[in-house]
Formats: sequence, structure tokens, C-alpha cells
Amino acid sequence: MTIESDRWALAGWWSKEGLDVRCSLCPHRCLIKPDTYGICGVRTARDGTLWTVNYGQVCVSQCDAIEKKPIFHFQPGARIFSAGTFGCNLDCAYCQNSMLSHPSQAVPCRNVPPEDLVKEASDRGAIGIAFTFNEPIVWAEYILDVAQVAHRSGLFVALNTNGYILSRAGEDLLKNVDVVKIDIKGFDDVVYASTCGGSLAPVLELCAQVIRSGKHLELSYLMIPGITDGLDMVARFGDWVVTELGPDIPIHLFRFQPSARMSNLGPEPQSRMLEAMDLILGHGVRYVYLGGETESRFRDTLCPRCSTVVISRSKEESEPGYILGEKVSRFCPSFSRIENRLNGISCPKCGEKLAVSYWPHH
Ligand code: SF4
Repeated sequence: MTIESDRWALAGWWSKEGLDVRCSLCPHRCLIKPDTYGICGVRTARDGTLWTVNYGQVCVSQCDAIEKKPIFHFQPGARIFSAGTFGCNLDCAYCQNSMLSHPSQAVPCRNVPPEDLVKEASDRGAIGIAFTFNEPIVWAEYILDVAQVAHRSGLFVALNTNGYILSRAGEDLLKNVDVVKIDIKGFDDVVYASTCGGSLAPVLELCAQVIRSGKHLELSYLMIPGITDGLDMVARFGDWVVTELGPDIPIHLFRFQPSARMSNLGPEPQSRMLEAMDLILGHGVRYVYLGGETESRFRDTLCPRCSTVVISRSKEESEPGYILGEKVSRFCPSFSRIENRLNGISCPKCGEKLAVSYWPHH
């Protein structure tokens, strides 16, 4: 379903093709006929112009630790304000937030101008804003405007994204965003085509762009039984990370849980999660975490040289958000106590420098 809104804003990244409009925000490159919408359901052509219908429309927001995104190596323990809207440019068969990504009815939203979003974040004690819950790429115009205000107010900006974006738009976003967590949904095009209607290459290109831009990058990888958890695929992923991005990029392995159109599959076996973790560490990646695991050894940061626990994270369940009576999935547990024992970025025991970044002045 597409959402009608009386608060349209002029979209970026498009060109006219006859009476139609070509959107160049993401690799779908939709050719949008008058009065119809692109695949994401939130960009529409009217009068030879591309409009975005979710600008400033905040459907869900909350304040908690940056670890919940999960982002573990940027300003550990930072309190950040998370916001999401509706719309998504992929269609994951296991999506747990389809009430936001591809809603079947109008989603209740607040209209929040950029200045008001930043003020709300600051008033709640956040030092950063994360765009998450739905896919932030289809909110790009709003994110750019919020980022300008956020930076003037001393707040950083983070994206929790599927990375399915064209290079030009990715560059524009990266000039204004400080932290990016990209979901890798499998490590070949067959998986992307069959599970979410996308392709892998543009996602990998965005990862490389983030590295070139010098911004902070973390990755997640979803382990789906029989689809993305083959050890050969996991090995190719780990090898690519080390070779193309470097060994210091943190990887969060997510454990598949049956949901949506993939409710017929069982959950990912924990034994395979551990095998994948060891495999990626064996390829030389220095920081690998298991999402959703309760044992602290899977979410604490260890010094890669002497194995001292340098950042410990304790879990706490917090009150979930709801949209139209459905629980909004946040994929990760809350972390109530983050204990950072690093001396700056150095291990207090052996002095090894770790890949941890801090937001200026904090
Ligand atoms: S952002 Fe939306 S309209 Fe634009 S190309 Fe992607 S799916 Fe199509």
C-alpha cells in the first residue's frame, strides 16, 4: 500500500524522462509514471516532479544506548535518540517491521521538523540521533536536513541501513552522517534476489564508500538456516571484510528467528552461530559479536592481543514500542550497563590500541 500524505517534500536524486520521472536514489532506479509510486512506496511523481511523502513523518522514536543498534565501537554507552518512519526499498521475506516497511494501512505519525527532532533528542539527553526501525535510505532528504541541525547542536548522526543505495546518493549521505551500520543479508546475489528483492554489489560498494569517507562502519550479517549460514558463504564474507574493509570492522552475527513469509524455517542453531564466529575470527576479523545471545562473552569487547575484557555490556529488557498494536522489532536487547575500561582506545593491561572511536568532546 502507498501512503497518501499532505506533507510532501521535493525529492532529491531524480530526472525527468518524458512525462515520467526516474528516481536515482537506489539501485531499483524506478521509472515512475504520473500519480504512481516507486517500489519503496514513499516517492511519487506528480506534474513531472518527484516527491517524497514521508518527509518529517516520525512513526516511532525512543532513547537508549547506542549498543542497541547495535553499534559497539563508537562512543560506547552513548545515549542516542532513534527515529523511524514508513517505507522501505527492499522486501525481506522475514521482515519483523512490515507495519512500517510496507504498511497495509496508514501508519500514525507525528510531523516533526528537523529542528524539533534535534531539540527532542537534546532534551532527552541524547548525544546522537540514529535513523532506524524502517530503512533510512528512503528518508534521505529528511536525514540530510536533520544532520545539518544536529551537527550545529553537537550531536552525531547514525544510520542503521540495508545499504541499498546508488553511489551518488551514498556520497551525499556520507558527507552528513558520522556512523553507519550496514545489514548484510547474505553473501551472494541469489540470496538477495530470493529473500529481499535486491542485489549484493551496491551494498558492498556502500561499505567501501564508508571506509573511503573515514566515517565509522559496523556490519551485521543475518544467519538463516540453509540460506546464508553455509560455512563457505560465511568464509567468503569474512575474507571480503578483511581484504576490502580491514580487520577492525566490527561484525554482529544475527540469529534468524522464524517470522513473516519465512515462518516455516526454524531458528538458526546456536552451534552454527559459534562456528561462524570462529570462522570469521579465523579469517582475521578482530571483533565479532553474536546478536541476541545472553552470555556476556558474546557481546563483550575483548582485547585482540591479551583477551582482557575491555568493554562489558549487561543486558536489560526495556518496554517495547508498538505500531497499530504490533510490537516494533528492535532486533537487539537493551544494554543497561556499559563498562568501558579502555584508557582512551588502549587496553589497560597490555596497551594494545583498539578500533574504538569517540565523538568529539565526549
Ligand atoms: S528510492 Fe524508491 S522510488 Fe527511488 S529507486 Fe529506490 S525504490 Fe524506486
